[in-house]
Amino acid sequence: MKQLRVRIPGKIIEIPYLIIKGKEKGRRCVLTGGVHGDEVNGIALVQKFIEYARKHELEENLKGEIIVFPILNSSGFKKHIRQIAYDKKDLNRSFNRKDKTASNCIANALERKFYSKASIAIDCHDSGERNMLIPHTRVHRHESKLCTECTHQMARAFGSKIIVERKGKSGMLAVEMSKKYTLPVLTIEIGGALKVAHDFLHQGLEGIINVLKQQDFLPGEAHFPRKQYYLRDRYGVPSKATGIIRFKKKLGQRVHRGDKIGSIYIPRKAREEDLISPMCGLLFSIQHADAIAKGETIYSILEDKKCHTKRRRTARLFEEIKNIQM
Ligand SMILES: [Zn+2]
Repeated sequence: MKQLRVRIPGKIIEIPYLIIKGKEKGRRCVLTGGVHGDEVNGIALVQKFIEYARKHELEENLKGEIIVFPILNSSGFKKHIRQIAYDKKDLNRSFNRKDKTASNCIANALERKFYSKASIAIDCHDSGERNMLIPHTRVHRHESKLCTECTHQMARAFGSKIIVERKGKSGMLAVEMSKKYTLPVLTIEIGGALKVAHDFLHQGLEGIINVLKQQDFLPGEAHFPRKQYYLRDRYGVPSKATGIIRFKKKLGQRVHRGDKIGSIYIPRKAREEDLISPMCGLLFSIQHADAIAKGETIYSILEDKKCHTKRRRTARLFEEIKNIQM
């Protein structure tokens, strides 16, 4: 294992990585997990990739090299938190920044040594402590002029049913490295709630291998799924009461406006109420714990605007949902 040594205020830390070097010369891919310390599925997906690479002696067929970071944020992982523990900042908002905070120092070191010299990058996440997400990739609406379709092509090859197109925020790895180096960074999101979703991870590994084929790191034809959906708007449904939830619909299932998603038992009223979907779309995330507090997001939906029933744009319905930034 190699170590990237980073000087942060007050000390020097080490971030472990390994290099899978192909027999044939080629380009460089950076694969990362655990940017956020509470996202175990990103870490587990990278583990799965490392196991696959060892078992199949990937170097033999690999063109170029893959730099693999099993965990970028060890300090946060130790505490089950999203942020870097030293400064409580989000590493994925710390790229291309000047102040010498611990997170910025780590981001800058990664940029200098790896991202500035890479051809593609794959960054594995999950939805964090509370929610479960269906596997999908995230791409950006406005990529650099030099390569408008790069990340989109990788997302196509990854093959998840859902591709989320978003604006992105300043300081994000995918946003900043694309701007600065025209580097396409594919963000993968799978599962969450501090639980490893083994059935989803299988899809994730296949997706990464297929991206490596499509990007000419591995031999063989990349295959593309017949149907994929680009979605933009995600709406969260906050709970109207504190209670115990029971889902009737499954994560990833298609729902229509008026469908019963599940129910909530409100002990203070000794009454159970139905959870009715305010719109048509795909059940994108669900709260993992069965207990929910008033105002917390119970589930979220990726809206399908072309569905047969139209969402009524009344104030009442808008109060029930909120647009969630991705
Ligand atoms: Zn994340």
